[in-house]
Amino acid sequence: MPQIEVLDEKTIDRIAAGEVVERPSSVVKELVENAVDAKATAITIEIKDGGISFIRITDNGQGIPKEEVQKAFLRHATSKLKKIEDLLTISSLGFRGEALSSIAAVAQVEVITKTASELTGTKYRIEGSKEIGQEEIGAPEGTTFLVRNLFYNTPARHKFLKSAQTEASYISTLVERLALSHPDISFQLIVNNQPKLHTNGNTKLKDIIYHIFGRDIAAGVLPVRAQCDLFSIDGYIGKPIIARGNRNFEIYFINGRYIKSTLLTKCIEDAYKPYLMKHQYPFTVCICRWTANGWM
Ligand code: ADP
Ligand code: MG
Repeated sequence: MPQIEVLDEKTIDRIAAGEVVERPSSVVKELVENAVDAKATAITIEIKDGGISFIRITDNGQGIPKEEVQKAFLRHATSKLKKIEDLLTISSLGFRGEALSSIAAVAQVEVITKTASELTGTKYRIEGSKEIGQEEIGAPEGTTFLVRNLFYNTPARHKFLKSAQTEASYISTLVERLALSHPDISFQLIVNNQPKLHTNGNTKLKDIIYHIFGRDIAAGVLPVRAQCDLFSIDGYIGKPIIARGNRNFEIYFINGRYIKSTLLTKCIEDAYKPYLMKHQYPFTVCICRWTANGWM
């Protein structure tokens, strides 16, 4: 009979990390969502080597209070949920408190952060779940995460990464979607020291569409807006002339999140049916919000 063993903390952390952190783009997603939750109005994402060796995310959000920095890296540590009832009203993107602990389990992480009410900031380092140290440091308000050498201690996962170029392209697509879903936040993406995307956060979705997809697409979209008791939709849909050859441009966000739903895809494509030829797919960027009543 094989003996039953209880896994040690480190192994548990690394297994949990596997669920949250699959590749560099998952790190970027989690850290940017945290910045959005921290009410940042400007977020800079810098990557090198497809994010495998270097990811730096800087935000001008609320920051993490000195005495809570260490706690933020514990598993199930979150400031967004206190009791089970909160799940019904939560509006932030993340709330399971697993991202930072997972990232720190499989990379070398440094955070510099300062809240508005503190005079000095905090620098904290943690590598492979092992705390390296914490010190006081001069810093602007907000938070900078530096994530180096992803999967340096889990070679089996490292092996599954694609080329730096492919990983970088996943991050670009992700940042484009994040920028589209938050027109009120200025996003900047820098890949290997080259600026790739810079949105100005002026709340104009059409400007971001122009920026990401170019002039022809921006000239071929129509605004849509609808509101009822249960939900609201705001965004742009493409005229048939800018129809695409695949579904990658059927973009919609539900309550701030980019999702894929077969139901919504079918609704959109059904509505377009009279206007498109076979194997043509619409261009859409729709920001949808369920109201609390509709969602429950
Ligand atoms: P969750 O987002 O699910 O709460 P995370 O592990 O992603 O869990 O983050 C843990 C906590 O660390 C957050 O609840 C938040 O309090 C704090 N935090 C993380 N990133 C930031 C940030 N960029 N700005 C301010 N606080 C942050
Ligand atoms: Mg989070």
